Amino acid sequence: MTSRRQFIKLSALASSLFAFNKSKANELIITQSKKTIKPIVISTWRFGIEANAEAWKTLSTQGRSLDAVEAGVKIPEADPKERSVGYGGRPDRDGRVTLDACIMDEYSNIGSVGCLEHIVHPISVARAVMEKTPHTMLVGDGALDFALSQGFKKENLLIKESEDEWKEWLKKAEYKPKANIENHDTIGMVALDMNGNLSGACTTSGMAFKMHGRIGDSPIIGAGLFVDNEIGAATATGHGEEVMRIVGSHTVVELMRQGYSPEEACKKAVERIITIAKNKNKSLDELQIGFIAINKKGEHGAYCLQKGFNYAVYSPEINNQLIDAKHII
Ligand code: ASP
Repeated sequence: MTSRRQFIKLSALASSLFAFNKSKANELIITQSKKTIKPIVISTWRFGIEANAEAWKTLSTQGRSLDAVEAGVKIPEADPKERSVGYGGRPDRDGRVTLDACIMDEYSNIGSVGCLEHIVHPISVARAVMEKTPHTMLVGDGALDFALSQGFKKENLLIKESEDEWKEWLKKAEYKPKANIENHDTIGMVALDMNGNLSGACTTSGMAFKMHGRIGDSPIIGAGLFVDNEIGAATATGHGEEVMRIVGSHTVVELMRQGYSPEEACKKAVERIITIAKNKNKSLDELQIGFIAINKKGEHGAYCLQKGFNYAVYSPEINNQLIDAKHII
């Protein structure tokens, strides 16, 4: 039996242990709350390097990931040398440059434009749709009218090089988009800021020489881009019709929710697309799909269908480098 003296000793020991654990726990909570979140931004393809550098200016000064991704993707949008995004993008089969873009923030606010003509920065119009309308997506003339009402300037986006290519294409007028030939690359960008918030942006001129009115995956929330501030964010590039079939970026985020790493989640989404294509007896030869993703911890990953897709990563550890994504075939 425990004597009274022993009991007093034991209670003193227990309360000192409790005090110790309590102070340890407090220490941990303080460390955790003090822990600085490392920002990261990743984006698709080679032009992601310049775009990331711009986004980093916002992320590294404690700015919001939403502002970072918008500023980042505006770089290739305005660059006529980038012929698959924004100004200078290749036209559709009627010679019209039509742009698709969407944006999503940490509160699941979404904005999107499809088949928008004459505006250099569709991503900023998408953001205006998100912030200034009761809607989430505007397309075609309605999107243009809205952009003009917001002060965006109407411009000619068709540059001579793209017009010449289109005229050449018209000679055969065969719509055969090829994998990794840069006539359809999209910039998709996802970022985590120092407050631990995720956002993403995606913008493209879509598949060169597409039918007029065609909208791909890029402006479709869930397909071309998806953000869940609890879990992670993902974006896609490649043949939009295939990405839409599996609501690709949403699938990647949901796979991360199930515990897969960003790379594993991207791989599984690509595999799903392959299975569907095989079931349809569709050749994979000219098909390319690429997903990139980050999770809430700031881990990143990517996967593509076939060799040739790369993505740019900017974090405190990786100072804006282009990484070749792993591929399945
Ligand atoms: N996903 C884009 C589209 O289908 C094109 C691309 O990223 O290559 O319009």
